[in-house]
Amino acid sequence: METLTHTVLWIIGGMIFIIFSAFGLVSIHEGEYRAARVAFGAAILGALSILLCTLLPVSGQMILLSGMILAGILVMILFLLPIGRNQESPQIPGNRVDERDIQFARARLEPGTVNYNNYYSLRPENKAIDDQIRARPGLLSPRAKYANPLLFAAPDASFFLTGALREAVDGPVSTSRQALPPEKMTHYLKDLAKYYGALDAGVTELKPYHLYTHIGRGTGEYGAPITLDHSWAIAFTVEMDHAMIGANPTTPGIMESAKEYVESARIAVQLAAAIRNLGYPARAHIDGNYRVIAPLLARDAGLGEIGRMGLLITPKYGPRVRLGVVTTSLELVPDIYKPDPSIIDFCTICKKCAVNCPSRSIPFDDRQENGGALRWQVNAETCFHYWNVIGTDCGVCMTVCPYSHPNSPAHHVIRWGIDRSGFFRRFANFMDDVFYGKKPAPRTAPKWTQVS
Ligand code: SF4
Ligand code: SF4
Repeated sequence: METLTHTVLWIIGGMIFIIFSAFGLVSIHEGEYRAARVAFGAAILGALSILLCTLLPVSGQMILLSGMILAGILVMILFLLPIGRNQESPQIPGNRVDERDIQFARARLEPGTVNYNNYYSLRPENKAIDDQIRARPGLLSPRAKYANPLLFAAPDASFFLTGALREAVDGPVSTSRQALPPEKMTHYLKDLAKYYGALDAGVTELKPYHLYTHIGRGTGEYGAPITLDHSWAIAFTVEMDHAMIGANPTTPGIMESAKEYVESARIAVQLAAAIRNLGYPARAHIDGNYRVIAPLLARDAGLGEIGRMGLLITPKYGPRVRLGVVTTSLELVPDIYKPDPSIIDFCTICKKCAVNCPSRSIPFDDRQENGGALRWQVNAETCFHYWNVIGTDCGVCMTVCPYSHPNSPAHHVIRWGIDRSGFFRRFANFMDDVFYGKKPAPRTAPKWTQVS
């Protein structure tokens, strides 16, 4: 009997050591040195304490093993308990958004111009805060807090290319039309988006609330009502590099977000052109030239759920994505949008983005009704004000989000549990703080970006 209990304890001690050490090595690879230290500590302490138990008399070892079995059963029961399993209904906004009201459109208004005067006579309540933001150094400004003229040249180059692509969102439609059954065509176009470089793609029927009411940026006349004679939309994601966003809010983060704006714009422009070559009208929606609200549309296309920080949280990459959209009149088969109560439940307990937001722009309380839908309302004005002080697009909320960890097997197992169990969500939330910290320090930027 003694040999048997010893063997079982040795196996358990060995497994603890291997699992935590493996997680430690993964964490080093991810640049998460605090998580690596905690994991190696847990590997050594856990394995040692189990091995010390082999010095106990056999009766003590039997009691210990029985306790472990009972604890295992208890954990399984807790895993299956219906904690936090809210019945989530689709949150459909009852009103549409005017693109002129979004922060990026307001930032482009130049004092003294017709558009400036017209906008602030329409929305006088926004003038004081916007003028205050305009007085700050600005994005990529050499006077900004994190100004780095050498590195700032890189995102500036990416924004230049996105700007050039804005004129290519639409174009002539081929007179020769190619036809496929809608289901086949949908599969083909989603695969084409992935072939062009998208991570994931989904389709939704275009609804009025997906569209802005009036043009605030991009091609077309400022302030013109938006009409789009399309019925379908393809939304897709591109991944943002985990290492580059780790040092947010400093410059590598905006280098990466600007690069992925280009990537999503390139794919959208290419995909829209391919659909037009098939003989159907199609328009790309890219940074600075949208007619649609991309996160809402991507959610309805089944790509994820809108989280506390107001961004789309995707199942495998969390908010660490950029979005692209193509709308078309080519008939497609929509994906079914099923609200994801596990993300809503996790965001309700987590609040890590709110705790770490330097401008306190993310709410701590539960979702509130806004325009007919329950949502967390981020304060875009204070967030954008902060960007214009530091010169980058911050992104701390994205970096600290537990869903942003790389899509490696280790994190995949945790996501599997988060998706299925309310108890596991609470446990994972607690463990994320233990391993990464409640207020994680920025990770070291990739070495090649450490030039000045
Ligand atoms: S940090 Fe937490 S609360 Fe914020 S979006 Fe991510 S999961 Fe939700
Ligand atoms: S980008 Fe930065 S300032 Fe804006 S909400 Fe996220 S953490 Fe806050």
